[in-house]
Amino acid sequence: MNPNTPQSKTEPPPRHRGSHRGPFPPQQPSVGFQRNRSDRGRRKDRASRRPRKQFDRSRGEQGSDERRAAGPLLKDLVRPNEEVMHVVPLGGFEETGGRNCLAVEYKGQVLLMDAGVMFPEEDMPGVDYIIPDISSLRGLEQNVRGILVTHAHRDHIGALAHILPRLGNPPVYGSPFSTKLIQKQHADFPDNPKPRTVEFRAGDSVRVGPFEVEAVHELHSIPDALGIVVRTPAGTILNTGDWRLDPDPVHDRKTDLESLQKIGQRGVTALFADSTGADKPGQGISERTVFENLEKIFRASEGRIFASLNSSMLNRIQQLLELATMYRRNVVIEGFSIRTNTEIARELKYISVPKGLIIPAEQSHRLPPARVLVLCTGAQAEEGSALMRIVNKEHRSLHIEPGDTVIFSSSVIPGNERAIENLKDYLARQGAEIYHSQMMDIHASGHPRQEDLKEMLRTVRPEFFVPHHGNYFHRMLHGKLAQEVGILKERVILPKSNGQVLEIRPHQVTLTQTVLPVNYIMVDGLGVGDVGEVVLRDRQILADEGIVIAIIKMAHRTGELVGQPDIISRGFVYMKDQRKLLDDTKRKIREVFSKTQRKNEDASVPNETYIKARVRDDLGQFFFQKTQRRPMIIPLLIEV
Ligand SMILES: [Zn+2]
Ligand SMILES: [Zn+2]
Repeated sequence: MNPNTPQSKTEPPPRHRGSHRGPFPPQQPSVGFQRNRSDRGRRKDRASRRPRKQFDRSRGEQGSDERRAAGPLLKDLVRPNEEVMHVVPLGGFEETGGRNCLAVEYKGQVLLMDAGVMFPEEDMPGVDYIIPDISSLRGLEQNVRGILVTHAHRDHIGALAHILPRLGNPPVYGSPFSTKLIQKQHADFPDNPKPRTVEFRAGDSVRVGPFEVEAVHELHSIPDALGIVVRTPAGTILNTGDWRLDPDPVHDRKTDLESLQKIGQRGVTALFADSTGADKPGQGISERTVFENLEKIFRASEGRIFASLNSSMLNRIQQLLELATMYRRNVVIEGFSIRTNTEIARELKYISVPKGLIIPAEQSHRLPPARVLVLCTGAQAEEGSALMRIVNKEHRSLHIEPGDTVIFSSSVIPGNERAIENLKDYLARQGAEIYHSQMMDIHASGHPRQEDLKEMLRTVRPEFFVPHHGNYFHRMLHGKLAQEVGILKERVILPKSNGQVLEIRPHQVTLTQTVLPVNYIMVDGLGVGDVGEVVLRDRQILADEGIVIAIIKMAHRTGELVGQPDIISRGFVYMKDQRKLLDDTKRKIREVFSKTQRKNEDASVPNETYIKARVRDDLGQFFFQKTQRRPMIIPLLIEV
């Protein structure tokens, strides 16, 4: 008997699965200060539950490609004798900043643009991340001529290690910084073939199969971000990737609007542009302002300064290193990713670090507090991050002392609000002075806001506009902005979901009704795609309601109950304190047997499946009546 067998699909009473994507986020009492993976799946507020269906997005059982690709394939769309290019969003159109991936097909040849990961939703307990579903490329794997990478954020390159081997390891084109980071990422997947990265710089043009590809410099929160143009006789697309405008950047060049304008003048059939900030009015804050505000904090602080930020914000790291030099502070860098990224950026001369500036954490104790800056991960209160370890006193040599200053130089990623609030509370209790980007302009988003978006549209003047890098809401708002700058409504293309195919012909973009299958491919530990809906549902029940195992001995010949059933439960109620519930549970099981016995008088073999289903159903109803909970129930029948 396999206790992992999922519960019967006909399980009464009816279950309403909710989702945090619903309008009411659940209230969770904070118990101590810990943030762990299981928090993501825990939902206490029954009132907030909504039927899951309305949010469900073609998540099926995912075992193999064969099962996954139940729908049209990209190869079915190939028209070798027509001037037509197909563009299919394999990710990035239902999520903001997640699993970005565009497939571009022309005469049977394919290019991918980006291959990123998405972080799991609240209702995917235990899942590490989600990668784009490339099963619809089946039959064209050998025709994938390359993957073009706009920049090295994980929502753009994080899935490469999973996707490249399945496509025969095609070349990956990216900027020097991006390719270096991709090679670094490869170290985590030693069994994969080494990625065949090709350096591709702003201003370069290369031919990749039938595609003419050109790159343009854009400013973002990671160095060396590119906008990418793909030209075929059927039309030209421009993918902005992620970008921002900043009239006065620090240690980086502005987004190259001049080149973008030239590209536009040459003709862009469809512009694909970042919708992340489409709901934010005005223009982005300049890095110069951020620098000035950070300097104010440095000037005022007498204790140590802890600056927490996203490890890919190398530009901000450079600013902080510069401030440390100006204010004669030595720098401790804590957190694996921030150290690695700083090292790569230093090697590639994207940042410069004066000799002797960076010191090990242990050495910082010998210095007066006013001589120390700690750069650390943990601005999103991520579990295991450096700041979390410091706050929880788990760090071997650093902890917060009264008079220290903690800077959160980053935005709050939706979903992390509560954890960040808790973190700030803990820091305050330990005596730290706290500066957050919500209180002061000490962070500039890497993404454009409404006025910036309009400027991009006015610069490129595309024939058609496809807002991307956003859920439908953000894309729709971005489409409205396009109309404000004169793009006709019918020329704004809004796919309903990932997978919907765009057809591009000379001076024409059509949103077809063909939707290629795009499922959630969940990566969980070492497994890829072996976590499907049933596994997730089971995890959720276990997390929310607990489990009850009924061990039942049954006579081999007669099918009669032998002795007393054993009841084991975890996370449901503490059975030892619930004598009556325990006795009633056993009585319920006996009743199942006596009823079955009567019905089954003539049958020679007792029906094990039937008994298990009855035990599950009857106990399910009984527990719900008594406790308003629906634990997972596993009857184990042992024939004796
Ligand atoms: Zn992104
Ligand atoms: Zn980015």
